This record gives sequence, C-alpha cells and structure tokens, in this order.
Amino acid sequence: MSNMFPAPVLERVRGVVAGDLVVELRGWRLELVGPRRGFMPTVSEVSSPCPSKRDVYLRRVRGLKPASDGVLLAGRVFHEAFLEPFRVVLRAGPSLERLAGAKARLLRGAPRELRSAASRVFDASSALAMAWGVGGARLPVAVEPEVPGGPVGLSDVVRPDLLVAGVPVDFVYGNGLERKELAVAAYAMAVEAASNNPVNYGVVVQYAGGRLLWRAVILDDRVRSRFLEARDAVARIVESGEDPGVAESCPDWCPWRGVCHAALRV
Ligand code: SF4
Repeated sequence: MSNMFPAPVLERVRGVVAGDLVVELRGWRLELVGPRRGFMPTVSEVSSPCPSKRDVYLRRVRGLKPASDGVLLAGRVFHEAFLEPFRVVLRAGPSLERLAGAKARLLRGAPRELRSAASRVFDASSALAMAWGVGGARLPVAVEPEVPGGPVGLSDVVRPDLLVAGVPVDFVYGNGLERKELAVAAYAMAVEAASNNPVNYGVVVQYAGGRLLWRAVILDDRVRSRFLEARDAVARIVESGEDPGVAESCPDWCPWRGVCHAALRV
C-alpha cells in the first residue's frame, strides 16, 4: 500500500490488518452477500442519516422530494469543494494556478453564506492533492469511479468519492462518521466483487473544526454485517411499501423535517 494516507491512518491499518483480520463476508462471496431482494438501494439510501429510513420511504414509495436547499445544498457544495482539487491535479498536474481558477469557479457558483467554509474545504483538499501530485507521478487515484453495485445487492453503479490504490474514501462534512462506515463497507465489497481482491479497510474524511480528519474503518465482518442488514432493511421498506414511521430522534437539519414533523398525517 502506498503512503498516501496520513500516518495515523496507516498505523491503525497496519496494526489491525497485518494481524489476524479474518473476513467471511467478502464481496465475491455472492452466496453470502449477493442480493436477497428485488429492490437494490443506492449507497446513499443505505447510509442515510434517518434512523428509521423513512427518508427512503418518502422518496421511493410516496414519490416526494426533500427540501433541496439547506443541508442538501451545503452537502453538494462541500462535496465538490473536496473532490475538485483531485480532479484538477489528476488532469493538469500539481498546478497552483489551475487550482486557483477551479476554486474561483466553484465559489462563484456557491451560495454566499457557504463560500467561506467551502473555501476552507477546498484549500485543505488542495494541499493533499498537491502533496500526492508532487513529482508528477501518475496517481493511483480515481475520483467518483463507477463500480458495479448489483453483485452486492446495490444499485447498478456505485461511486465512492475516491478510490486510492483500491481503497474507498468517502467525504463527510460535519457529523456522520458512523453511517459513513456503512458506505465504505458497501464500496469495498462492490470493489471486491468486481476485482476479486480483498479490501481490508476504507477511509472516511471528515471536515470539522476547520480541518480534514481522517479515520480508517477496518472492514471486519461486524461492519460488513451492519451494511448487509441496513441494505436489506431499506429494500424491505420499498418492496412492502409500509411506512417505517418517524424516527425517535431526528437530526435537526434533516431535509424531511417539514414532512415528518409538520404533518405527521403524511
Ligand atoms: S425527519 Fe426524522 S423520520 Fe423524517 S426522514 Fe428525517 S430523520 Fe427520518
């Protein structure tokens, strides 16, 4: 494995993976991890922030749309701010000038109130992309690559934010580390099914407190089982068409609050 990840990530990974990581639920074990239902959810649906997955019910069964401003818009802006520097460096090499141009374009298209935070995410991500790109070596990095999801019961195509030397990396702005564990497990198992190569860990990058925090997720059978259970629970909701009900605790920022809490008759 390359040394592209920060030292604490590599230390944690080496400590566990070099030991006795025994995994049954590999992506190529289709008899164990293949689809169990007709409906195949997206990774976003499986790892959504709603504890009861009512968000999936509202969208897929009721055909409703969430409020598209607020947290969804912010998520899109910050997500692009994280990924765009990697696209630039992969395309044009480690060029400060091109990064500055890309940043200006991104911020011009972002709502005014998000620009300052988006600028900080872009800068932190640029520093990393530059560090990886120094020397002009061809980076073993793909930005939002398409990986077949069907073999592991997911939508036709799944797209991790980054694949770094075969390791899935997913970005989250603010909280959400726990649910992102499921996302990187899903991506890793899809990669395993496509490549027949084991993926023993994934990485969640969280932007919080003005910096990027890196967390290695060791992909043992516990987290893989959690992903499979969540996948099947979401598929069951959509196939049955039954309302799973409003969750006991809903994030303040959930874009569905206007539906779930303002009109419980929905
Ligand atoms: S408001 Fe609560 S129940 Fe409704 S989608 Fe959001 S988290 Fe789920």
